[in-house]
Amino acid sequence: MSRMFTSMADRSVIVTGGSKGIGRGIAQVFAEAGARVLLVGRDGEAAAAAATALSAGGATVDYVLADVSRPEDCARMAATAEERHGGIDVLCANAGIFPDVRLADMTEADVDLVLGTNVKGCMFSVQACLPALARSGHGRVVITSSITGPITGYPGWSHYGASKAAQLGFMRTAAIELARQRITVNAVMPGNILTEALQDMGQAYLDATAASVPLGHIGAVADIGYAALFLATEEAGYITGQTLVVDGGQTLPESPEALAAAQA
Ligand code: NAP
Repeated sequence: MSRMFTSMADRSVIVTGGSKGIGRGIAQVFAEAGARVLLVGRDGEAAAAAATALSAGGATVDYVLADVSRPEDCARMAATAEERHGGIDVLCANAGIFPDVRLADMTEADVDLVLGTNVKGCMFSVQACLPALARSGHGRVVITSSITGPITGYPGWSHYGASKAAQLGFMRTAAIELARQRITVNAVMPGNILTEALQDMGQAYLDATAASVPLGHIGAVADIGYAALFLATEEAGYITGQTLVVDGGQTLPESPEALAAAQA
């Protein structure tokens, strides 16, 4: 029997927000699968540290500093991947921010910042990579959306939830527009994933969050990486415009009682 899921060797992969958190986990999974990875972020120290750490085992991982909310930065990001890695096969549009503010206090600047980074940043980064993705003949875009917005809500995150739902609206039309160029566009929807930011919330918060997940623990960044990797493989080539929830079952219980019954 032929080996499956081996198609990532030497593929050129961009991971926006690849210097920290979930993006770093995605980058690590792709690097371990043999891809050449370009990390994208704004903070040079974090990006350099991540590239050094992820390339320690011999993988090709480097970085470029860019703000995805700026089209000119996205163009430079795409050009850098083409120069250094000979093209672009996969774009993981993952960069995102989640400052919290209640609707009653929300300013126009709050909204612009979150939509500018999460929605425009996603659209501009995909747009900048289109020619190279088309040339590859098997282009893949994997967007990091969230359960927050498309499925659930959380006080303080109405603008964030709107941005994560907007990414899915963008994805569905982009998937149709790009299909004839054999570019697929899909999204992963993480639940609670253990990142530095979540760790900073303290052990009591982590324990309470873990208890709300049917599988009983908070997800790892690699869990999102594996889902993104699958959507980027040759074998996933007939999947486009779709979402994959990776949340340990967090969105399944229809009530607190349903969760308690499972734990009884
Ligand atoms: P994180 O640890 O704060 O990492 C965010 C990454 O995005 C960093 O590398 C950051 O680098 C980069 N970034 C932010 N704004 C950027 C910009 N304008 N241009 C370029 N890069 C930018 O956050 P995370 O938790 O891993 O979140 C990553 C994605 O997962 C987001 O889209 C988020 O909505 C989604 N998500 C996270 C969770 C979770 O539980 N953590 C759950 C659902 C969805 P710089 O700061 O250096 O720019």
